[in-house]
Amino acid sequence: MAVLIIFCTFACKLSHIVFLKESNKIFCMKHYDYLIVGSGLFGATFAYFATKAGKKCLVIDKRPQLGGNVYCENIEGINVHKYGAHIFHTNNKKVWDFVNSLVPFNRYTNSPIANYKGELYNLPFNMNTFRQMWGVTTPQEAKARIEEQKAEAVAALCGREPQNLEEQALCLVGKDIFTKLIKEYTEKQWGRDCKDLPAFIIRRLPVRFVYDNNYFNDSYQGIPIGGYNVLTEALLDDADCLTDTDFFESYRDTWRDVADTLVYTGRLDEYFGFSLGRLDWRTVSFKTRVEHVSNYQGNAVVNYTSHNEPYTRIIEHKHFEMFGDKVDACSSTVISEEYSTEYKHGMEPYYPVNDEKNNSLADRYRSLTEAEPNVIFGGRLAEYKYYDMAPVIEKVMQMWSK
Ligand code: FAD
Ligand code: UDP
Repeated sequence: MAVLIIFCTFACKLSHIVFLKESNKIFCMKHYDYLIVGSGLFGATFAYFATKAGKKCLVIDKRPQLGGNVYCENIEGINVHKYGAHIFHTNNKKVWDFVNSLVPFNRYTNSPIANYKGELYNLPFNMNTFRQMWGVTTPQEAKARIEEQKAEAVAALCGREPQNLEEQALCLVGKDIFTKLIKEYTEKQWGRDCKDLPAFIIRRLPVRFVYDNNYFNDSYQGIPIGGYNVLTEALLDDADCLTDTDFFESYRDTWRDVADTLVYTGRLDEYFGFSLGRLDWRTVSFKTRVEHVSNYQGNAVVNYTSHNEPYTRIIEHKHFEMFGDKVDACSSTVISEEYSTEYKHGMEPYYPVNDEKNNSLADRYRSLTEAEPNVIFGGRLAEYKYYDMAPVIEKVMQMWSK
């Protein structure tokens, strides 16, 4: 029986731990209070509060780096959001104060631009958009124009609630905005007709009769100064961490020898060996390249709202962290085209598909979690729930405040 002693060869951040590897199983010679599977914001925040409470934590991640989806890769001095653009926003002062106590956040305010066949519009839908669309300049004129635009759709409902995204959008902002800024973008993003999508998707987009391009209504938003890696490194400072370590190829059978409690932030269905079937996901793929200009599109986020372009949006990463003269001081830039892609086995699972089939399958898996002693399931993969970053942190803070 070949037993190999490894000292940190596959490790990312370890303090004097000895691991034994026999075939695919890894045995750890130190005992922990928590084995945390996944170093994303759920796992990392959990590790932070646990280690502050004097607990010993081992964090493992199957990826070659820590931080989960907020991980940034530094290219040409620019922090590139490798797993999709992440903008931190919250109304919760405790969460905001907590993250700022680890790393100060900058003043980035998300204000995307929509490009429809070369015509540019401000988002979210506000007085700037209405002026660009119809030339109106007062809220009264804009409201009157929207009433006129939506009259036909409202009449067609005959008093019932909108049943799908198309009806909802037409009743919210009328046909011009639906045609130029919603219909094709949504079809690209979701890969299906707006009539076949639930109404609630569009309800979260603000419609404002003020000149305000801030995409979020929250009191606080920004990006950690120095990037998200500074935040996750601070969260994981006192934990032992291993990268390139898949739970199912390492501690699946032996974790009880390693730790008292398992904190699992991987996929819910995978934990149970997909025994009830596979949950569906929506995914996104990115084409990232360096452009040798200091400023490519003048904004971090530009949405392409027609079918003319196959991608949904282009992210120019430097604008998340560089403002004013700093933009031109950095002579190149990194951009990512974002493509909405049908999920296939082996791709990154990004967004849960909250339709009836998947919700009920997730519920059946959730009931299995109750029979797993000493296992905490948390985060977007293990809860099969769309979570923004702040609510993930809030949830862990609440767990530790009890
Ligand atoms: P993750 O960050 O996904 O971390 C899970 C970790 O577990 C991963 O590192 C994974 O490798 C690891 N793992 C999984 N299985 C195993 C295994 N078997 N063994 C070992 N490790 C494993 N939120 C916002 O607030 N603002 C935004 O702008 C925003 N933009 C987003 C854009 C995209 C494209 C996506 C997908 C999400 C976005 N979010 C945003 C949400 C945000 O990413 C999540 O709230 C946050 O990442 C959740 O953290 P988590 O720890 O649950 O998951
Ligand atoms: N949306 C749109 N045009 C845009 C931006 C958004 O039609 O330029 C629609 C689209 O259907 C999207 C929904 O609004 O799914 C919610 O947008 P948001 O940006 O909040 O969602 P995300 O892209 O983060 O899923």
